[in-house]
Parts: sequence; structure tokens; C-alpha cells
Amino acid sequence: MLTRAEITARLADVRGRIADATRRSGRAKETVTLVLASKTQSPETIRIAYDAGERNFGENYVQEAATKRAAMGSLETIRWHLIGHLQTNKVKLAVSIFDLIHSLDSVRLATALARAHPTPSVRVLIEVNLAGEPSKTGVAPDAIDALIDSVRDKVDIFGLMTIPPAGGTPESSRPHFAQLRELRDRLAAHTGLALSELSMGMSGDFDIAIEEGATIVRVGRAIFGERRR
Ligand SMILES: *Cc1c(COP(=O)(O)O)cnc(C)c1O
Repeated sequence: MLTRAEITARLADVRGRIADATRRSGRAKETVTLVLASKTQSPETIRIAYDAGERNFGENYVQEAATKRAAMGSLETIRWHLIGHLQTNKVKLAVSIFDLIHSLDSVRLATALARAHPTPSVRVLIEVNLAGEPSKTGVAPDAIDALIDSVRDKVDIFGLMTIPPAGGTPESSRPHFAQLRELRDRLAAHTGLALSELSMGMSGDFDIAIEEGATIVRVGRAIFGERRR
């Protein structure tokens, strides 16, 4: 586990890289939200990042997030993001915790979210499986128009999220990021929804994601170190 000084220093480095990437792209640095991917991290570790000024945390599992949130007490301005897959049987608990769900990928899930929290509608991103990887969740690009048509009255769709194929170089993510942005531009024109958020980029490639238009980056290991489980 890293010390407070180490986490704070790594956080400063990530913030600097975000500022550099936005500068290279001619964007204001406020146009990018850093979500700290805090799966497996303890409440104490999350608190270190909170004390350093961070407010957005991304969790992969609903129950893990619920346990940590309870342990951390009331931190008014903290915002939790669900970045992992959501099962319909966890929806009720999920809507009580998360401000934004990055992983909507089915009508069934949208229906369950609307039932659990009709007003205001739950805020979601649609997770896109751009490369059609069978091992991954997310909707295929050619099914996304139909999905948006079916769910737009049930949930509040803020944009798109993707996880590029693992194992390549950071640069190999770039075409996937560009493809998500192009898909968003086409969908926004076609549906009339703003779809202003693009959640893409992790520890290895968040600079590149920002150059390609990311508004939310999800960063874990670059801040907290390698995960031990
Ligand atoms: C774990 C995770 C991240 C962060 O990955 P790092 O390589 O630790 O930066 C981002 N997005 C999702 C969906 C994740 O599960």
C-alpha cells in the first residue's frame, strides 16, 4: 500500500498530465473530470485522495461501494460512479449510491433503473463494446441506435463509455477513442441528445483519450499503485 505522500505525489502527476493533454488539445482543463478507480482500495486510501481534493470515485461492484461508503461516513461532496457491470438484482442498492452509472447496456437494465428510481431519472452512460469482444459487456455499435430509442424515456443518457482492448500499447487505444467520439457525434445529430460525456481512458492511455475528446477519465493504478487482488 502506498503512503499518503506517495498517493498525493502520484495524484499531482496525473493532474499535471491531464492539464498537459488538455493544453495540447486546446481545451480548458476543467473540461475533464478525473474519476479515481478505487476498486480494492480501502476507505482510508480513498480518504487520502479525498483530503487531497478529489471528489469523484469509480467502483466496479455495488456491494463493495456500499460497504466503503458506509465506512466513510457522510462526505457531502463526494460522488460515486459505477464503472463496472450492473446486474438487475443490484439496481435498488445501486441507485441509492451512484451519481452516474457508466455501464448501461440493455433495455432490461434501463427498465429496472426506471422502476427503482423514476424521478429524477437515473443518470447513465451507455457502455459501447467497440471491438465486439465477446468477453466484454457493453452494446455493439450497430445496436446502439435501437437501444437509445428504447431507453431514452427511462433513463437520462449523458454520453458514452468504452474500455479499449487490453494488452496493446497506449497508442493502440487511440483509434478506439476516436471511434467512440465519432459514434457520439453521429448519435447526437441523429437523436437530438447532447451526449456530452465521453468516459474513456485509464492509467496507461488517459492522455491519449483526452486528446481524442474524453470528458471523464477513469484512473486507478497511476494513483494508487498496482492492485494486490
Ligand atoms: C479498474 C478500471 C479502471 C482503471 O484502471 P487502471 O488501469 O487501474 O487505471 C478504469 N475503468 C474501469 C471500467 C475499470 O474497471
